[in-house]
Amino acid sequence: SPRTPLADRSPDELRSFLEEKRAAYATLVERGLRLDLTRGKPSAEQLDLSEALLSLPDGHTDRAGTDVRNYGGLEGLVELREMFAELLGVETAQIVAGGNASLTMMHDVLVFHLLHGGLDSPRPWKDEEVVRFVCPVPGYDRHYTMLESYGIEMVTVPMLADGPDVDAVEALVRDDPSVKGMWIVPTYANPAGSVVTQEVAARLASMPAAAPDFRIFWDNAYALHHLTEDEAKSADIVSLASAGGHPHRPVVFASTSKVTLAGAGVAFLAGSRETVQWYLGHLKFASIGPDKVNHLRHVQFFGSPDGVRAHMAEHRRILAPKFAAVDAALSAELDGLGIAEWTRPRGGYFVSLDVPDGCAARIVALAKDAGIALTPAGASFPHGRDPHDRNIRLAPSFPVLDEVETAMAGVATCVALAAAEQLVGDVG
Ligand code: PMP
Repeated sequence: SPRTPLADRSPDELRSFLEEKRAAYATLVERGLRLDLTRGKPSAEQLDLSEALLSLPDGHTDRAGTDVRNYGGLEGLVELREMFAELLGVETAQIVAGGNASLTMMHDVLVFHLLHGGLDSPRPWKDEEVVRFVCPVPGYDRHYTMLESYGIEMVTVPMLADGPDVDAVEALVRDDPSVKGMWIVPTYANPAGSVVTQEVAARLASMPAAAPDFRIFWDNAYALHHLTEDEAKSADIVSLASAGGHPHRPVVFASTSKVTLAGAGVAFLAGSRETVQWYLGHLKFASIGPDKVNHLRHVQFFGSPDGVRAHMAEHRRILAPKFAAVDAALSAELDGLGIAEWTRPRGGYFVSLDVPDGCAARIVALAKDAGIALTPAGASFPHGRDPHDRNIRLAPSFPVLDEVETAMAGVATCVALAAAEQLVGDVG
């Protein structure tokens, strides 16, 4: 029978619901679990899909006959750049293959803007009185901590199903020249799972900006990470920005961290040809060249863009049941109670769970005491502060399926308990 929402229950009914959940929670604590849903790491089973990489490359010369063991080739192996240019929808001259972390490339791009300024910058950003970034929330914690480490102010806008609230972004960017950039995870966003539509991307690419050097940090970390057959197509931000008269506005990032080996993949940077040359022009003082041995083994391992797509289908086979388990556990405990909403993402690595205002930190603490580690409440907001204390990021990729089921049933119990406590007005 359909459940009565908690808000419609009588005080007596609520008290007995609370007692029931306290008992369920006590049983949960007694089980002495030790489970971890904190970070979006690939599981060992996923890493095993790339085991063959450890026996590659076969030989040590690239297509042009260059010995990849040696120095040089700052822009990366051309055959790997071709492969990912196709997958990311740019031209080969518009993409660089680098080291193992796209986060490092984002950091370099930010620091180069601070120290030197970008194409179109009137002066280095460090010489501005204040630098602000637009941050869609909820979003990726490392984006915020990176800005925070350089004293860059963060202005939040809501992340909606079709991307950042573009009306809000346009209004912030139009009149304030201190707004120099924004973060976007365009495809299967961390943590909301949203996909930026072609229409929203077109507006972001062409909107008037008071800062001539306004940058979109387009972090397409999950471009290829589909969980269903309904595969999202990433908007072509580089072409849209070029057509909109702001060719250097977007800087695109991606990596194979969640394709091959999270700690030993290849990261990519893309943008206008001038953006690529600007980036390499600063990078050349820091590096003689990337790990081309790793580039070559990735080329051999995948064979072609279709090889990458086939490999991603293997990830999906492992990941999709875990996401289904998250949904099933939350639905089983919480459907109809009117206390929680969560995403059913079509790709990426996260489920975003919204609970009653003021309950997220309590739920994470309850789960911790029951041996279930969750991402700290507020982590998906600048400075770790969720103004409503209502969002929890769930990352089901790392534990085995059975553990995801157990952990999520436990989390659902914690949500029900915290909501009941709040309604009864008894946090004891
Ligand atoms: N961007 C986003 C949105 C991510 O979720 C992650 C990984 N959690 C990264 C970047 C990190 O990417 P990389 O391993 O290439 O540094």
